[in-house]
Amino acid sequence: MPDYNTHRVFNYLAFLVISVLLFKLQIVITDLKLFLALGIGFYVGTDFITPDLDIESTAIKRWGKLKVIWLPYKWLFKHGQSSHNILYGAIVRVIYFSIIILSVYYLLFRSLPPETMISSVYVFIFLVGIVIANALHIILDVLF
Ligand SMILES: [Zn+2]
Repeated sequence: MPDYNTHRVFNYLAFLVISVLLFKLQIVITDLKLFLALGIGFYVGTDFITPDLDIESTAIKRWGKLKVIWLPYKWLFKHGQSSHNILYGAIVRVIYFSIIILSVYYLLFRSLPPETMISSVYVFIFLVGIVIANALHIILDVLF
């Protein structure tokens, strides 16, 4: 299986190709904020929320003390099985992480006016970035 850095190099090269394609097709990239949301999602999906969170991987170590939030995830999923399913694996990770983020978000921002909430389009594009990055990880795992 390719190591953490091989995954990163592969993902960022792929992101470059994806960006050029988006530019040629004039989608997402035409809106800088949307493209930024995609890029941040892709970064998070490449460096932090990867399919390898189910083992003592570099990705899990990068979470530092916060890695405890992935412990139940590690217990629930065996490495290389459901976590490495292109669609199901990414969806489970995103739902798992969203529940944690939304709880924190709710606790922090419930007293703020609704204008401070992030538009759901950006959240969706951010999640798409994570799903694409995770899919590329799994594709590289399958190839090597
Ligand atoms: Zn993997």
